[in-house]
Formats: sequence, structure tokens, C-alpha cells
Amino acid sequence: MNNQNIVSRTERYHIALPVPFIVEQTPPELKFEEYISSFSKILIFSSHLDDAVLSMGSLLAYLGSLNKNIEVINIFTEGSVYQSPFNEKLLLQARTSTAANYFQSRRNEDKKAIETFGKIHIKNLGLIDAAWRTDSDSNLFYAQSIIGDIKPEDKEIIKKLESILSNIKCNTPDALIFAPLARGRHVDHQIVRNSVSNVFKNVVHYCDFPYSHKYQNEDQFIADYALSPVEWHGSYSSKKKAILKYKSQKVSLFHPHIMQLVYETFYLNRKEIDVMYDYYSYSR
Ligand SMILES: [Zn+2]
Repeated sequence: MNNQNIVSRTERYHIALPVPFIVEQTPPELKFEEYISSFSKILIFSSHLDDAVLSMGSLLAYLGSLNKNIEVINIFTEGSVYQSPFNEKLLLQARTSTAANYFQSRRNEDKKAIETFGKIHIKNLGLIDAAWRTDSDSNLFYAQSIIGDIKPEDKEIIKKLESILSNIKCNTPDALIFAPLARGRHVDHQIVRNSVSNVFKNVVHYCDFPYSHKYQNEDQFIADYALSPVEWHGSYSSKKKAILKYKSQKVSLFHPHIMQLVYETFYLNRKEIDVMYDYYSYSR
């Protein structure tokens, strides 16, 4: 048994490392590592204040060890005063009573989590989270669930996001981009995936953990963009340490008190794969 997977019985919330324990990197993984290391600027788009760490914390630990300009850009980082049974449950799970306090805690926790990886910048865009979005008559768009199809009412926020993304692209035209794959069909993850893909040409998509292991229903995007997966076998104990900083999310993330990590998977398009293999042969 892998010793790193033994968890203390006194800990209320457990994180188990991925199984089986793999230390050796595969040839595609080595090429992927060389490809991402060839960029001096890397932007990671995260729908919420934990998705980058949950979905690619092990790769972030690796990126933080490099002397590069890395930035995590969190998109939906604010709430509103409007209440539904659904968003009230989120506040209750986080043991807070207002959306303002909830998002303040989450921003603080995310900063602490990302700081564990070294020098990585964070930008919070301040867009309203799906669970709190309303129309001008204060009707919540997603009062019951945030899983499923994007509502037409979200047209405005998508327009706003794409305008922000276009500005970011103008300022950093040569950056490597990471964005969610939207496994699990969380509407905010789908919005970020679609908008980033609309604005940026070459995007590496990460598998949304833990949604990726609750649902398997997003294969259409992979097929449409002809994406190929690369599994990452880096340091998962660093990721585990970072996830434990999200104290307000423990109840929602650790149901029922244990989180089984899986190896992070990244999806690249055909052009990226070609560049990756050319870069590799050039560098040798
Ligand atoms: Zn999320």
C-alpha cells in the first residue's frame, strides 16, 4: 500500500492521493511538461475560487517551482443579496449568513491555497456566481441547480466576460492558456470553457475535479475540438496541502468526509500536439 495514502483517524476530513501510485512520467507527459515550460507567461482561467487548485493543483505546484509569470484568473468571485434555497444551502455549508462574507472567505482561502505553490499571481474578475445571478426583476437564473444548460438570460454576462478576455488577450498575446473542460456541466464552467475557446486559439483544457468524477457527460466538446488527453503524475501531496486551505468548502467538497484525488488530465488540440512534438524534437 502507498504510505502517502494512510490518513490519520483523528482528521475529520481526509484527502487520499491518486491510486495506483505512479512516479514515472510517461513519454506524452514529458513532452507536455517540455511544451508548457517553453512559455514564459501562463494564464489559468478558473470559474470559481477553488477550481484551478482542485482541477490542476498538482500542475500548479510544478508551475510554481519554475521561474515564470503565472497567473490564476478567477472569474465568478462575487455573489448578490438575492436568496434561494440553493444559495442559502451553500452559505449554510460554509457556516456564514451573507454572500459578501462567503465570497470574502473564499477569496482569502484561495489566496492562501495558491500561495502554497510559490509565486503565482491571482486576479479576481468579480463577476456574479451563477447561484446568485438575477435579471432586472431580481429573478434568480439558477434557483434550483447550477448543473445543466446555460440559460439564454446569461447572454449579457457572457458578452461582458468575452470583452474582458479580449483585453487580456491583447495584453498577453503569447501566453499559454488553461481553461476548464466543463465536465459535470456546471453552467459557470461551460461559460468559461466556451468564452475562452471563442477568444483564444490554443487552449489546454483541464478536467474539472471533483465534477469530472461525478459525471461523464461532456464528451461532445472533446469530439468537436478533436482533443487528446495527457495524464499528469506530479506531486499530489502539495495539492492536498493546498486543498485543505479551503476551510469554508469542506462540507460541500468532502462529502462524506473523504476526497479521493485522481490524476489530473489535460486535453490538447491537434495543433498543440503537433507543436508539442516539434518542440520536443527541436529541443533535442
Ligand atoms: Zn467551479
